[in-house]
Amino acid sequence: MQIGCHGLSWTGTFDKAGFEFALRKTEESGFDLLEIPLFDPYNFDLASAKPALAASPLSLTASLALAEGSDVNSEDPEQIKRGRALLGKALEVMSECESEHLLGVLYSRLHKYPTAATTEARKNSAEAIHDLAERGRELGVSIDLEIVNRYETNLFNTVRGGLEFLDLVDHPNAGLHIDTYHMNIEEPDMVQPVLEGADRITYVHVGENHRGYLGAGQVDFDGLFRALLHIGYDGPITFESFSSEIVSPDLSDALAIWRNLWTDGEALASHANRFIRDGLRSAAALSYL
Ligand code: MN
Repeated sequence: MQIGCHGLSWTGTFDKAGFEFALRKTEESGFDLLEIPLFDPYNFDLASAKPALAASPLSLTASLALAEGSDVNSEDPEQIKRGRALLGKALEVMSECESEHLLGVLYSRLHKYPTAATTEARKNSAEAIHDLAERGRELGVSIDLEIVNRYETNLFNTVRGGLEFLDLVDHPNAGLHIDTYHMNIEEPDMVQPVLEGADRITYVHVGENHRGYLGAGQVDFDGLFRALLHIGYDGPITFESFSSEIVSPDLSDALAIWRNLWTDGEALASHANRFIRDGLRSAAALSYL
């Protein structure tokens, strides 16, 4: 397993300086992987990122959610067209960075929909993800669909719902991306959904229920780690935490980051790296669910 850190522990801006800073701090904190937000793949500075990555031992992954005007979870052909193009561009960027994972809410806007998803919108989204997954297969990039809570999408909010959506997508290169922050709201516990998702889980976010320090909240990480080991999960596990200390123009408002949960990203991230590695080690020592 690769243990990763979301770039928003370090910076909200991923221009050349921000990207290099996040890459360096993530490495210094002991991680194997940096995850960056890629909401605007058209303006990502690939020319700066590629040499920085080549000089770093870290792998890169990227997450995004669709925005107003490019929602493939809709019945509007123009929006769907823009959404498909944006997803394709993001995939290209990640392939150029030799990344193996593109993840997040790739299938929907990240906001509170006023109504349930329509059958047509669901179908349009699934078709867009199918085509993206096919292109991803050619490029060696896995398409990991993040399961988020009901206030952030209307398509699916649980592993079970995600598996049903994958049936509709019908492509082996699309998988499920679970996140403990969202599981804490929607799932019965941290164990059962992992067992149920088993071989379709391709990416994991660990975050506390308040999105601050790991272990300082209500999430059962011990159960999660034991369940992941039980299913033989070997993909990335990325630490995700947000504080109003670090503001991203694209992300902070969408995720409702209004509170200052920490000020020192270095202390936070180093703690998270140890917390995840120690948690996996102690879960492995038990060797039962
Ligand atoms: Mn997440």
